[in-house]
Amino acid sequence: MRSYVTTPIYYVNAAPHIGHAHTSIMADILKRNRQAAGFETKMTTGCDEHGQKNQAAAIASGLSASDYLDMRSSEFRRLFDTLNVGYDFFVRTSRPFHMEQVALIEQRLMDAGLIVKKQYTGIYCAGCEQFKKPSDLDEHGRCPDHPTLIPEELDELNYFFKIEPFRQRLIDHVNDNPEFISPPSFRSQLLNMLSDPLEDLCISRPVRRVSLGVRLPFDDEYVTYVWFDALINYLTNLGWPKPGYELWWDTAEHLIGKDILKTHGVYWPIMLMALGEKPPKQLSVHGHWLGTGGLKMSKTLGNVVDPFEVVSLLGSDALRYYLARNMRSDSDSMISIELIRQTYNSELGNRIGNLFSRAGKFAKARFEDRIPARGDLTADDERVRLAALDAARGFAKPFEMYELPRVTQAVVTACDMLNNYFAEQAPWDLIKKPETAPRCATVIYVTLDALRLVLEGVRQIIPTAADKALATLGCPFEASVGTPWVPQLDRLPAGREMVEIESLFPRVDA
Ligand SMILES: [Zn+2]
Repeated sequence: MRSYVTTPIYYVNAAPHIGHAHTSIMADILKRNRQAAGFETKMTTGCDEHGQKNQAAAIASGLSASDYLDMRSSEFRRLFDTLNVGYDFFVRTSRPFHMEQVALIEQRLMDAGLIVKKQYTGIYCAGCEQFKKPSDLDEHGRCPDHPTLIPEELDELNYFFKIEPFRQRLIDHVNDNPEFISPPSFRSQLLNMLSDPLEDLCISRPVRRVSLGVRLPFDDEYVTYVWFDALINYLTNLGWPKPGYELWWDTAEHLIGKDILKTHGVYWPIMLMALGEKPPKQLSVHGHWLGTGGLKMSKTLGNVVDPFEVVSLLGSDALRYYLARNMRSDSDSMISIELIRQTYNSELGNRIGNLFSRAGKFAKARFEDRIPARGDLTADDERVRLAALDAARGFAKPFEMYELPRVTQAVVTACDMLNNYFAEQAPWDLIKKPETAPRCATVIYVTLDALRLVLEGVRQIIPTAADKALATLGCPFEASVGTPWVPQLDRLPAGREMVEIESLFPRVDA
């Protein structure tokens, strides 16, 4: 079994932000999830280095375009490395192989009679780098996504891709493949976009306006529209059209924000159909992050969350956990350093880290540095063991991105039960009398074994701390291609000596 997970490629006209961190972390979590299920995996993320906005940013920086792109793309790469995002391929659309395939695709569509040159008068949003219909604009005639920009009236000759001939086929595809859009609530939104005839898609920009891009193979007065170029990365990352790419392409899952549903749900599948390729297996859609006060983040409001700053204060697991736990598909979610800090202290620190530390240190102090062996189990033991097994099982089968908050909630529930169990059983009392000492050993074993099981699952979200804890317990996580991980109880090696217990999530105060 294979899995190919992608993120959008990010514009490099500014420094990376929390939205970039979010989608790339989600892709990494899905990759780890599919690896645990025994899949062979490929995950890509990276940068879109073409287009008008990048060109303007390069000019403003005073650097040459290539120096500017090198500087920015290494900044994005450094962020993803810092966040433990295990990408297999880091995309840069400026690489020659990608650019050659974009030109090849354009030539093929031209030869098939699907590209026409014509005069076009329209309203253009420089923020979207897209032509807009009057109905796309708000009551002030502005783009809803870029209300501070005044859309320009453009009248120019351009090349257009005829997409209307593919509309009915795409509608049929959406209807025949319920898994194409995840979560399913976005299906009707996509079908709405397909309810009226589709206007030809402008795929060129005159070089005098934009020069940073792929020249059209049939007219070097034009570069390729940046979106048309960018979407093709999903194929060129696989070496398309060299044979072998199709093994991965059949499994493609594109993670996208809800603002780019049209490019990925309308333009991209139609480009693929025109090339004789299949649409991606799935588009997995998420909402956006709002700053303090539920407002869009802005420097003026001072509510911008810088992912580098979060990692330096709280570590990468803290950010990964907060994003996985609070992301929503159908709505936007709020984020601030304070909210991340609170979640880190209360859920990772108090529920997981403290229990691990207390039970582990107890075993070391009272059972000669070793994991004690358990005796017969009580109904209380069985109840917490089942909750841990249930939480771990959520991570053992491939899940979809929108299911992450639910999968994470099972971890919180299991850890709450375990903490209550530990407090009620009071091993510090049981150890005092010889007749209850064996029962104490069972409580410690049950607690540590249940924690181990939960950590084997939640390591998909918090790999740094979970792998450290599993190493302390002498149970490094194991899964490999073709050998899925099966969550099981009683795998903690009784009698095994434990190394020093380190704090997993040291408390961070405001
Ligand atoms: Zn716009």
